[in-house]
Amino acid sequence: MAVPKSKITRMKRGMRRSHDALTAFNPNECSNCGELKRPHHVCSACGHYAEREVVAMVEENFDEDAA
Ligand SMILES: [Zn+2]
Repeated sequence: MAVPKSKITRMKRGMRRSHDALTAFNPNECSNCGELKRPHHVCSACGHYAEREVVAMVEENFDEDAA
């Protein structure tokens, strides 16, 4: 098994990890419903993309616990 020849210092480790940060996505407003959505993606709230409905949405009924 390959073994590191010497210890990586805190500084070298930090230098490597300085590029590891993730960036938050930049949401756009849906032109149909105004909900925030990912750019270049179908709106998850209304199923619209480029001013038309491309995904038929089921009746929005989230009362799963209601009997
Ligand atoms: Zn929408």
